[in-house]
Amino acid sequence: MQTLKFARKSRFNTLELITIMNEERIEEIGENHVGTSAKTPLRADAFDISDDEKIKRIEESVKDILNTLGMDLTDDSLQGTPKRVAKAFVNEIFMGLNPKHKPKASTFENNYNYGEMLVEKNIVVYSTCEHHLLPIIGRAHVAYISDGKVIGLSKMNRIVEYFAKRPQVQERLTMQVVQAMQEALGTEDVACVIDAKHLCVNSRGIKDIESSTVTAEFGGKFKNQDTKREFLDYLKLETEFE
Ligand SMILES: [Zn+2]
Repeated sequence: MQTLKFARKSRFNTLELITIMNEERIEEIGENHVGTSAKTPLRADAFDISDDEKIKRIEESVKDILNTLGMDLTDDSLQGTPKRVAKAFVNEIFMGLNPKHKPKASTFENNYNYGEMLVEKNIVVYSTCEHHLLPIIGRAHVAYISDGKVIGLSKMNRIVEYFAKRPQVQERLTMQVVQAMQEALGTEDVACVIDAKHLCVNSRGIKDIESSTVTAEFGGKFKNQDTKREFLDYLKLETEFE
């Protein structure tokens, strides 16, 4: 009886309340940029359809978005946009979703017994915020200490690129780079720091054009304060290249 009374008084029925809470939660996750899992949330059937089929479907979806916004798609300038966007999504900016693009983790023996850390600095990061589908632009700094194996320098750039080319959360990107390097090198002693601007923060929402976000993941020996400090000190080197 009391429940009934309450229900009658309430402005919302239960279903409406659940929907409202979900919308608030959706806003909250987006505004706070909180990732909900360390693995990219891909469905099991993600690659059941071909890239060509994905491009076709995305092209139709982009047409739909532009039409909804009231754009005239017969205009010469806009005619090719849906297809261009679809191709860029599948082949470039989200190509890192597809394991067929994962860089081969070829490693070599550490023949010269180099025993110090190796740091690959200032790797350009172009990624996409998975909450707003807007760009994340920054630099990644990756380091490892060899436990017998070494990896090609450009391979480190490629690993960063592969994981960056997904809808991403910066924390997850940082962890995925470290995990991939650890797997390839057979050692826990890998670290990654990423400093990046999120256009969803810089150009919309709070519109803070100056802020950037720093994330770090330290594995194995890099958890040791001295090793961590050494790595971070190398990042401050301001070598001039001319
Ligand atoms: Zn965002």
